[in-house]
Amino acid sequence: MIVTDLSNSFYPYPKNKQEKKKSKTQIKKKSNKLAKLERQRDKKIIKYGECEYCHRKFKHLDPHEVYGGSNRKRSIENTENGFVKMLCRECHSNEKIVEQLKIDTQKEFEKTHTREEFIKIVGKSYLKEEKRMLKSEKGAIEIVAGIILGIIILGMLGFGIYCATIDYQNEKTIEITIKDKYIKRYNDSDTYLVVSEDGETYKIEDLLFKGKFNSTDLYNQLEIGKTYKITTTGIRLQFFSMYKNINKIEKID
Ligand SMILES: [Zn+2]
Repeated sequence: MIVTDLSNSFYPYPKNKQEKKKSKTQIKKKSNKLAKLERQRDKKIIKYGECEYCHRKFKHLDPHEVYGGSNRKRSIENTENGFVKMLCRECHSNEKIVEQLKIDTQKEFEKTHTREEFIKIVGKSYLKEEKRMLKSEKGAIEIVAGIILGIIILGMLGFGIYCATIDYQNEKTIEITIKDKYIKRYNDSDTYLVVSEDGETYKIEDLLFKGKFNSTDLYNQLEIGKTYKITTTGIRLQFFSMYKNINKIEKID
């Protein structure tokens, strides 16, 4: 076997020297650019005046890039968007204030821009706290909606039970004179209807749980123009086509 490439036999082998140099100059170029940006910015900014956080007056203010680290350059580029704030020494060295400014600045920015535009510049949103709050609010709304739905369902159920049992309740005895009587066919079943002189409509219907099965007889006994003492149950609800049910009749001469 003949070895032709000997470059790996040396330690340290000199292969990377050139590459290293290259990347170093790249970093230098970058930091030069940043320094230039900073100088330009610092020229434009007045270094005395009111601190943008505590609003007290100072002879010296520090320009503070709200979004630091890898976003420092982007902050400087977006000075007009308020991404660089003039702060007093006290505020500038306060970590809580520095964090709060990230949130406040984003909120301010989003008054005229979208969330997407902010993330495009800074890379992420700092309004997570707010989002979490909204989530819990959403949860609360869902609970309230659930309760309301529950009440509606219970109400409907209650009304259903009421309608199903009302035919057996609300017993009353009155005197009526029969003006008209007729059979109404509805869904393949006949309903006996009776109209009194005072304009109210009654039905005559069998009541299983009351042992009333003589509806046809009652209907046939009633004569138009005659007065009867009747006992009814149920209520009249026009909207649901509900009528009072005549259970007993007694002819008055
Ligand atoms: Zn301050």
